[in-house]
Amino acid sequence: MDVEVRVIDNSKGKGLFAKKSFKSGSIIFEEDPLVSCQFSWNAAYQYSACDHCLKPLETAQENARRLSGKAELELPFLECCTTDKSKFTICSLCGVEYCSVECQTMAYNQYHRTLCLQTMQRNNSHPLEQLNEAWKSVHYPPETNTVMLIIRLLARIIQSPNRDVAIEQTLQFCHRTVNEDAELAHKLLGEKFASQQALLHNLLLQCIPHDGIEQFLTPVGFQGLLALIGTNGQGVGTSAISQWVTRTSDLAITDEERAVLDKFIDKLYEDMDSHSGNFLNNEGVALFTLQSACNHSCVPNAEPTYLHNNNRLSLVAMRDIQEGEEICISYLDECSVQRSRHSRRKQLMENYLFACNCRKCEEQACDPDVTSEEDDDEMSD
Ligand SMILES: [Zn+2]
Ligand SMILES: [Zn+2]
Ligand SMILES: [Zn+2]
Repeated sequence: MDVEVRVIDNSKGKGLFAKKSFKSGSIIFEEDPLVSCQFSWNAAYQYSACDHCLKPLETAQENARRLSGKAELELPFLECCTTDKSKFTICSLCGVEYCSVECQTMAYNQYHRTLCLQTMQRNNSHPLEQLNEAWKSVHYPPETNTVMLIIRLLARIIQSPNRDVAIEQTLQFCHRTVNEDAELAHKLLGEKFASQQALLHNLLLQCIPHDGIEQFLTPVGFQGLLALIGTNGQGVGTSAISQWVTRTSDLAITDEERAVLDKFIDKLYEDMDSHSGNFLNNEGVALFTLQSACNHSCVPNAEPTYLHNNNRLSLVAMRDIQEGEEICISYLDECSVQRSRHSRRKQLMENYLFACNCRKCEEQACDPDVTSEEDDDEMSD
């Protein structure tokens, strides 16, 4: 392992540090999640992904046709599509789809045995479907989380051959619900969601056996899980069409053919943008043990990417990193991290319960030009 988790002496708790130097663009480590789940609305809107690893279940052409709304669209260079439908499989009991028998087996052994609805037709009255609907009724896109990740996390504990280890693995994720200094509760526990919390909790109790996981099923235990997914959940995105685009760049074609292809791709993205807006990827959320030890910085030196087009995370260096340096990622999306210091810190406090004191925040605190807080429109969700 080229990185190590170390305890930092201030309120930051743990951090991840480089045990060797890394060149900009190189992979620092790769990691499979403890558990992951597609977002609820993303799944409802026919973004078709493996129920276990989020690999796209559409071909690049099907993906391009759906996202552009052009049913007749013909994609050139189909050999650049990586979707292999011959490997797909489906749970014969509940109908969920997987990219491979390997994913189906892993899902079944880790959590799906507990959650499989035992019926070909998922119907709306099943508690799991009700739970999902209750979540969707308040948490509209753009999505950052789903209560279904909590269900998988609990089912994973229930099915674990060593429950104590599984519980310990779960509790090692930060799961505090409030920032005491700021007297602020986590956003998912805030006023906006207060009335829904009891409903979600109630439905969750009907979805899953209680034996051995009682500590997570009390109202306080459930709040801890909401804070856990809120503060540790890492977004995952996969896409058949972007994989195809990446592959086409390696084609041995003439300059003339390349120019035609580039034009085609530009037009395709224009069409997809006007039909589907920003929602191009299969999207979900995952819990990663190592990645969750990475602290936030508004000037990060690493970023999570999904080079395998599934939920396997590759942490990539954004610049040269020296041995011994702390590895930091941005918890904010590309857009939010460009906003004012005040706006960034507000979003980080609400969603991650800490006051950012990264280099950029410290520098801007003393700089009169950028301490202006007038560009703060209310943060959306
Ligand atoms: Zn899969
Ligand atoms: Zn099933
Ligand atoms: Zn900062």
